[in-house]
Amino acid sequence: MNDISGRMKEVEEQIALIAERCGRLSSEIELIAVSKSQSAEAVREAFDAGQLIFGENRAQELVAKLPLLPSSIHWHFIGHLQKNKVRKVLPLVDLVHGVDSLELALDIDRIASELGLFPRVLLEVNVSGEATKFGFTPEVARREAPRLLELTRVQWEGLMTIAPIVDAPDNARPFFAQLRMLRDQIAAENQVDLPTLSMGMSDDFEAAIKEGATLVRLGTVIFGPRGRA
Ligand SMILES: *Cc1c(COP(=O)(O)O)cnc(C)c1O
Repeated sequence: MNDISGRMKEVEEQIALIAERCGRLSSEIELIAVSKSQSAEAVREAFDAGQLIFGENRAQELVAKLPLLPSSIHWHFIGHLQKNKVRKVLPLVDLVHGVDSLELALDIDRIASELGLFPRVLLEVNVSGEATKFGFTPEVARREAPRLLELTRVQWEGLMTIAPIVDAPDNARPFFAQLRMLRDQIAAENQVDLPTLSMGMSDDFEAAIKEGATLVRLGTVIFGPRGRA
């Protein structure tokens, strides 16, 4: 248990080192501690070690965990958000990483309007094209961008992706590079600023940082293997 704070420190040092090696400032890279399937005690330990942002991927788990923890924690929703959970999740989180369909974006916008919210969101893109993954294809993301960016409530901050599992860490780089280039393209075509790239997990965050990640979502390297919540 006690090594959560030790691992946090190690991960932060690793991020700083990777950033330095590729000429970036470590302050450009924000760490989201992915606490799905981890106990409230584990989250508290990371919080006590200085971690303020945590990511959850299931609405029910988020709703159950949140009241057990300090209100100064910032929660991000990183999973596939079911439409019937939007109303519950929106008021609880600072950022929705996985807006993975036009219908979901429209629902979030409508419900945010009803709730008087302006949620910050990221567009999830399935750059690898794997059938098991959620997200817009790059083509559809580009095509629908003007309509998505016109929504009045949702605040688009950038793009998010999950890379496929690869043999060698650097083999994930092309997928992350593709997300960055797609971001550049959508931003230029629509004359908007999309500063955030949420990419990189425990196995591939080095590659993601090299390709410009601004948010990395790390679970296992902080908390150890996931048990059951
Ligand atoms: C589980 C999860 C992570 C963290 O995965 P680790 O490999 O444990 O770091 C990051 N992003 C998403 C979307 C996840 O579902």
